[in-house]
Amino acid sequence: MSGTVLVGLGVSGLACAIELQQNQHAFVAFEKESGAGGLARSERMDGFIFDYGPHILLNTPKILEPLNLELTQCLCESTIFLNTEQVLSVPAPLQHYLHRLPITQRLQVLVDIAQRNLTPPASTSSHFQQHLLSQAGKTLFDLFFQGYEAKRLRYALTEIDASMPNRIQSPALAQLFGVNISHKQVACGGHDTRFKYPSVGGIDTLPQAMASTLPSAQLHFQHSLIEIDLQAKQVSFANQRQEFFQHLVLSLPLPEIILRLKNPPKAILEAAQQLIYSSLYILNLGIAHPATQSWAIARIPKRDVDFYRVSIPTHYSKVNAPDGFSCLTIEVAHHEQRYPLTETEVRQRIYAGLKHLNILQSSTEVATEWLYNVRYAHIIYGHKTRAALELIFAYLKQHGVYSCGKYGEWRDMLMPHSMQSGIDTAQRILAASKYLAPTVKLYSFNINMM
Ligand SMILES: Cc1cc2nc3c(=O)[nH]c(=O)nc-3n(C[C@H](O)[C@H](O)[C@H](O)COP(=O)(O)OP(=O)(O)OC[C@H]3O[C@@H](n4cnc5c(N)ncnc54)[C@H](O)[C@@H]3O)c2cc1C
Repeated sequence: MSGTVLVGLGVSGLACAIELQQNQHAFVAFEKESGAGGLARSERMDGFIFDYGPHILLNTPKILEPLNLELTQCLCESTIFLNTEQVLSVPAPLQHYLHRLPITQRLQVLVDIAQRNLTPPASTSSHFQQHLLSQAGKTLFDLFFQGYEAKRLRYALTEIDASMPNRIQSPALAQLFGVNISHKQVACGGHDTRFKYPSVGGIDTLPQAMASTLPSAQLHFQHSLIEIDLQAKQVSFANQRQEFFQHLVLSLPLPEIILRLKNPPKAILEAAQQLIYSSLYILNLGIAHPATQSWAIARIPKRDVDFYRVSIPTHYSKVNAPDGFSCLTIEVAHHEQRYPLTETEVRQRIYAGLKHLNILQSSTEVATEWLYNVRYAHIIYGHKTRAALELIFAYLKQHGVYSCGKYGEWRDMLMPHSMQSGIDTAQRILAASKYLAPTVKLYSFNINMM
């Protein structure tokens, strides 16, 4: 019997395994794909390197430090194609670059700030739309948040809970006049303009380096989890392998975990209905000429275009395309019921939108194209999601199951947070094992006496 079993070797599962390994705690890990990395993987095609969704490192987690990774410090422009009559490009986050808005919009923001300062703060917002309006004000809501969040989440903003985790800052008076903005910020702009990216290879360089520190005999790829029997404390894989566990760490998406439970209680199945999300089609294009745009990441709240974000990965690393070529990554959110889209529809809409925004011209030669779907991409908190999560986590914990990472914890997380979630999970297992340690010691003492 293995004490600790890990399923899922994305960056959170890898971080958990590294922490257990460093504390000499035995584990065995399983992953359905042929390699580690999960969403932080990359595909190589016709000389291009395409990541599974644009991935950059906004800060370098401690766990990566001993790996001596070659990371380039990137300084790139970001932009927003605002919801205005003429295409107006302002860096993200908009709140920091209000001085770039036309005078009419700046005056409207000024009125919003004055109103906010004069009105006593409402105790709580009842839904996400109200929260966005109270944080950002009506002008920025109309210009950016309404269009962008509606396209990213594909869910009525009034149906989303006001407590949904977000990183929205309120506009400040000084930002209307460009005060407190450094020269570097003016030139580039955006919270995601200073970041790190592997100097050689795609984002998969990170998980590959993490996996290389682990004993390969303990990592089992092409093992797809199909059933979790909490009574027998046993997991089963599609290839017939079965494994008993004392502690089970799962980093696959929470709805998929619940689907695999053997005879789950009705209350848990009902709670799983509250795990709301939007999916993503990600189209990667290899373009037969260098990028003509100066920005690396563009956000698009405009309603006449279906995608919400376009990235140019060759601006973070030239290695991502052959010499003289460039890449584009376009993200379109959808949902099986609420916003169904076929692959043909999504391709047509993306090309029409790119031409409409002048990002692609009719003469542009697309050398390579790769479209894929991420089913669980953006996590959404409905009004009952928090209560549902409490119930699910209490049930899993009671049976020695730890769910970790962005989709296991069902919480918006960047890679560093997902890694930390894996480390924290390992620490919980180590603490729980210490508590059991006297029994184990006593047992070995008895054996020695026999
Ligand atoms: C489009 C997009 C862009 C992003 N951009 C950034 C960014 O720029 N910067 C940043 O820091 N973060 C970014 N993130 C967030 C980042 O991807 C996540 O925080 C992180 O990769 C999550 O890692 P994880 O290990 O928790 O989950 P995952 O990467 O989802 O890993 C889960 C693992 O479980 C495996 N698995 C699933 N089902 C089974 C099964 N049945 N049996 C066995 N194994 C299974 C999967 O194959 C996978 O390897 C982005 C996310 C998305 C969706």
